[in-house]
Amino acid sequence: PDATALARAESLITSIPDYPKPGIVFRDITPLLTDAAALRTVVDALIEPFVGRFDAVAGVEARGFLLAGAAAIAANVGLMPIRKAGKLPRPAASMSYDLEYGSAQIEMHDDNAAGARVLLLDDVLATGGTLRAGRDLLRAVGSEVVGIATLLEIDGLGGREALGGDLHSVFHV
Ligand code: AMP
Repeated sequence: PDATALARAESLITSIPDYPKPGIVFRDITPLLTDAAALRTVVDALIEPFVGRFDAVAGVEARGFLLAGAAAIAANVGLMPIRKAGKLPRPAASMSYDLEYGSAQIEMHDDNAAGARVLLLDDVLATGGTLRAGRDLLRAVGSEVVGIATLLEIDGLGGREALGGDLHSVFHV
């Protein structure tokens, strides 16, 4: 994607101060998603460095699903949904991770996971806890995580350090 299209897409991400709590600036990608050209631009930019090297994309519920669905069709690969705990109909692999207060758990089914080369996606990278747990879960079901791509990386929160490896962020703030 060209720089002008990317800059325009970036300008559609909306910052909401003090949401969901005081001191947090929430980055809302909804205005970008509703714009056809911007959506196509960022989906292409997300997958660009990894094209030809993955058999599936994975996304963590809920906003990761939006990008993963679009990216799967754009790249002509499968989609592996990673869900919040307690929602899957069959026995599932699970991974716990720490939050600022307490902990959370994500789950997935292992269909087609063994040996798959997976690109893991999310909208916003903050501390990296969510994506690290997603990567650990994919590895636990036998997939190879070839990279992680995010739409917007919040610099200075340690996410990049927490993840290491092949991390690609389309935008930074
Ligand atoms: P973390 O695990 O700390 O990297 O947080 C990443 C997850 O929380 C992602 O799934 C994001 O959707 C969400 N998130 C964290 N911080 C923000 C923010 N400032 N704006 C929007 N979403 C956020």
